[in-house]
Amino acid sequence: MKLEMVDLRNQYKKVKTEIDQAILSVIENANFINGEQVSIFSNNLSTYLDNSNVIPCANGTDALQIAMMALNLNPGDEVIVPAFTYVATAEVLGLLQLRPVLVDVDPKTFNISTDSIKQALSSKTKAIVPVHLFGQCADMEEILNFAKENHLYVIEDTAQAIGAIYKFQDGRTRKAGTLGDIGCTSFFPSKNLGCYGDGGSLYTHNSQLATIIRMICNHGQVKKYVHKYIGVNSRLDTIQAAILNIKLKYLDEYNNARLLAADEYDKLLSGVHGIEIPFRSINTTHVFHQYTIKVKNNKRDNLKSFLEKQGVPAMIYYPIPLNKQEAYNNICRIPSNLSITEELCNEVLSLPMHSELTQDQIEFITNQIKSFFN
Ligand SMILES: *Cc1c(COP(=O)(O)O)cnc(C)c1O
Repeated sequence: MKLEMVDLRNQYKKVKTEIDQAILSVIENANFINGEQVSIFSNNLSTYLDNSNVIPCANGTDALQIAMMALNLNPGDEVIVPAFTYVATAEVLGLLQLRPVLVDVDPKTFNISTDSIKQALSSKTKAIVPVHLFGQCADMEEILNFAKENHLYVIEDTAQAIGAIYKFQDGRTRKAGTLGDIGCTSFFPSKNLGCYGDGGSLYTHNSQLATIIRMICNHGQVKKYVHKYIGVNSRLDTIQAAILNIKLKYLDEYNNARLLAADEYDKLLSGVHGIEIPFRSINTTHVFHQYTIKVKNNKRDNLKSFLEKQGVPAMIYYPIPLNKQEAYNNICRIPSNLSITEELCNEVLSLPMHSELTQDQIEFITNQIKSFFN
């Protein structure tokens, strides 16, 4: 049985005709930069998210950097980020001479812990970056309330949670990335909405911020050859936008296929001693960017190599927390211990998860896991 963490080839086969046509049409029109597919995509995504301003850019890391640039922060200002995340979340802060304040995460959801955020507040704190890790939203209602009380910006890193829906206590719902001041996402091929190369986007309800973000993406330009800000050159290629216009139509279908696969994994793994299946929060849907189990009793690395020998790929997201990365040694503030993050780095294991997983594949994978523990 041939297994992959993410099966993009079989996903492509199902929409090949549409995708091939869309790519060809961009090439035939030679509209490679800022072609009409880019604005069509930004409108389509805006409708999907119910968010008025969608600004595409070159990748998810750029989206985070541009968001930070748009807020007009000063060197030394502090931004609270989870220690258990992909490096990009903190990297852009370092580049802008902002100070990442690393806080711990919740042991069940893997998302930034609201208590740790509260403990980390200082007079220099300007923003919080909740990362909706592995596909479900962080505890946004509490985070937004705390941010409001303390005049902090909230920048959502929603690279792993596009399409997830957050539910407030009063029943209102909003899509991930549209809850805070700015949402940032990535269309890296393996993300839930992936293009065929690099891509990213920012979202905001605030039209003033949107105007600034648009300018920053385009060299800080107000109009041609007039530069109000120091910006960057960060664009979504027309070919990628054309691909995304097609894949966006199927995003809910893809996310639903992931959810069904996760349900099946849960069912087959729930009795297995020595592992914990993913926890699902009640105030958010889960789009299962990753299906991540915890492996107890220091058995994670052995299970991973056992699975690999059986032809089952498995990945560790993330093996080393930000506080143990050399590049971040001197620039971060760490107000309290990061014991949950460090424990998770030793316990997490992500299993194959994508829109094309079959029942047979899931049975094979879970049977291998069971045989390891027997
Ligand atoms: C993928 C990812 C990014 C970066 O996206 P790129 O498009 O690869 O730059 C940022 N944050 C998180 C949490 C991610 O998973």
